[in-house]
Amino acid sequence: MDGHHRGQLNMTKLYWNAEAETLAAAALRALHTRKLHTALNYVATHSKFYQAKFAGAGVSPNDFTALEDLARFPFTEKSELRESQLRDPPFGEHRACASAEIRRVYSTSGTTGRPTYIGLTAHDIAQWREVALRAFWASGLRPGAIVPVVVSPFVVAASYADAFETVGTCIPIGVNMTDRLIDAFRFARANTLLCTASYPLHFAAALQQRGIDPKTLGLKLIFAGGEPGASIPSVRQQIEDTFACRMLEVSGNGDYSAMAWGECEHRLGMHFCGQGLIHPELVEPDTGRVIDIVPGAQGELVCTSLDRECIPLVRFRTRDHVVVTHTECACGRTGFGIRIIGRTDDMLIVRGVNVYPSAVRDVIASFAPRTTGVIEIQLHKPPPEGWEPPLQIKVEHTGLADRLTGLSAEIEAKLREKLIFRAQIELVPDGSLPRYEYKAKLVRKIYEG
Ligand SMILES: [Zn+2]
Repeated sequence: MDGHHRGQLNMTKLYWNAEAETLAAAALRALHTRKLHTALNYVATHSKFYQAKFAGAGVSPNDFTALEDLARFPFTEKSELRESQLRDPPFGEHRACASAEIRRVYSTSGTTGRPTYIGLTAHDIAQWREVALRAFWASGLRPGAIVPVVVSPFVVAASYADAFETVGTCIPIGVNMTDRLIDAFRFARANTLLCTASYPLHFAAALQQRGIDPKTLGLKLIFAGGEPGASIPSVRQQIEDTFACRMLEVSGNGDYSAMAWGECEHRLGMHFCGQGLIHPELVEPDTGRVIDIVPGAQGELVCTSLDRECIPLVRFRTRDHVVVTHTECACGRTGFGIRIIGRTDDMLIVRGVNVYPSAVRDVIASFAPRTTGVIEIQLHKPPPEGWEPPLQIKVEHTGLADRLTGLSAEIEAKLREKLIFRAQIELVPDGSLPRYEYKAKLVRKIYEG
């Protein structure tokens, strides 16, 4: 399963790891059943946290004999990991290896509280690199790529750097370093960029302010991830036209694997690339019931580590709400495809209808070039009262008065049609809403507390 062949790289190979990425469904089931059996035994032996959880749920690794048995095991919530770390800092009671074996420590972004710390052993680092390489290779990473990395360095950028250094060249930059990033292209001949989906247009504006035509930068390929948006055709087209480049979507998560999903040239959705290392499930967010992975299925992504030493996770709730785009692809990869619809955490419930802020943004972005795609949903009262329709949404327009006539009403109608909720749109000029270099904040609370 190790596709890491240093020194034997060639431009024409289709897959980073052909054996793993083209595994037939039956073989994948057999492999994951075997690996889950081992992984469940490992945590039951090495992790105090899972010993307690399994005892509480009345299950033991012996109860696992077929893939379907995994549903009998309890979920792992992010909040539980946080509490476990408070009891036993810094890594928590879920640490399953000796501290001396830990080679790298990440902190995941503490959007809802203090950061959580994740340790990786040398084995874990190699596994994360392997999955990242499959995903990036699927999305077009090849020898010769020179890649500045402008995602938040404290999270998982080291794993991305690891992958880029294996195939091409990495230039760590970090966030809020626009001039250094421009220099990386102009003087270090960078040609590829890893960033969040909302970053490229922000970067284009910064270039234009400095009198630089984005098309002259030499940017050939953008790996966009970290938030929904890269898959919206109008947004993607606008970015590709602005830079004369291609943009493909990638995704991962600081908890279960820095990078695990990559979109191939057919652009149907991001392929699952974690065969043998991560076991993915789809569940109903409310009930936790397992959903079959078939095209069109929607649910929350849940991941189990199959081969991880320091922080193995069993049925980790990622809170990523995804739709399965396809299970077959002309590229030959057998990993199913997904698009991320939103975060279960961010969801608003408007008169019983689930509304994802990123889905609202997608609908409004489809009015480009009349809108910039930048929006802000404003909540004037805490939920559930604050979620009462009409939702107040500020939308940036791009100009000309004659083209604005009726725009708010058109957007309101389209939101009602596509997302089944009533909105009140306030148009504001281009540049009036805040820009975010990392993940765009789509909802603002205009109330105390
Ligand atoms: Zn494909």
